[in-house]
Amino acid sequence: MNDFEKKIASLGYKGLQTQEIETLQVNLGLRCNQQCCHCHLEASPNRTEMMKWPTMELVLRSAKSISCKLIDLTGGAPELHPYFRRFVTALRQEGHSVQVRTNLTVLLEPGMEDLPEFFREQQVSLVASLPCYLEENVCAQRGPGTFEKSIESIKKLNALGYGCDSILPLNLVYNPRGALLPPLQSALEEDYRRELGQRFGIRFTHLLTITNMPIGRFRKELERQNQEKNYLDLLRKSFNPKTLDGLMCRYQINVGWDGTLYDCDFNLALGLPVNHGAPDHIQSFRPRDLKIRRVFTGEHCFACAAGFGSSCGGALL
Ligand code: SF4
Ligand code: SF4
Repeated sequence: MNDFEKKIASLGYKGLQTQEIETLQVNLGLRCNQQCCHCHLEASPNRTEMMKWPTMELVLRSAKSISCKLIDLTGGAPELHPYFRRFVTALRQEGHSVQVRTNLTVLLEPGMEDLPEFFREQQVSLVASLPCYLEENVCAQRGPGTFEKSIESIKKLNALGYGCDSILPLNLVYNPRGALLPPLQSALEEDYRRELGQRFGIRFTHLLTITNMPIGRFRKELERQNQEKNYLDLLRKSFNPKTLDGLMCRYQINVGWDGTLYDCDFNLALGLPVNHGAPDHIQSFRPRDLKIRRVFTGEHCFACAAGFGSSCGGALL
């Protein structure tokens, strides 16, 4: 039994059980135009892993078999997938709500110029990474020039109604620069709104704070800075039992680029598929066996349960 399981067992949990599949998260591949130092998937322009169309068809079929609230598309940069628009259009035709996790800068890549209009036409919700309202902090995490490009993309999205119109949500994502937990989400949202509004006239819907996972490139960065132990200790020390009811893996399933099923994108990064007897590939997607299943946990789960809690939808408390 890992330490996370021991911790929750001491509170009376017999493992972490799912409740429902409200979100079907689909990772379209690991190719990205960026190479951020906190990326749990170690995505980069050189990665070639990508979902094949027959797998996308299986996702479409599986999505139809469950009445989930949201299809959440992620990557890498999902927009770089050659069938991205075809897939989004097919999902929308089936009546699904679709959300895309965008890094913003990809919208300025060649051939992507009309993507914001495509998003609006399809009424896709957007979740966009912007780890700070200060240029220096964004560029330190995401590379030179990324802040300026991100601002340019947000302005373009605002001009189309994103972040302004309630049917076109544009949520921004913050994650700490170093071995720290995020601050109170609502307070930071006020800071973002004030700073981005005053400096750039930018609008957005909500700010989502996410805790850095001690895996992938962020873990290597911690090791380089000799901060790994401190960070892991901080996560454990900050364990908050009130977060357990809302942990995102209890309400979602993640489909990897090769069709493997995971409890979350972090387990995908670690190569830990759905387990404990539930089917672990989209080819054998059986809602009855997947809706209620036992989650595959590990030491990294302390990051989701620390402080105010963390998920792809932001803080849990
Ligand atoms: S964190 Fe996002 S934008 Fe950065 S390299 Fe990873 S997938 Fe790309
Ligand atoms: S990392 Fe978080 S979302 Fe993933 S299995 Fe652990 S607690 Fe659940």
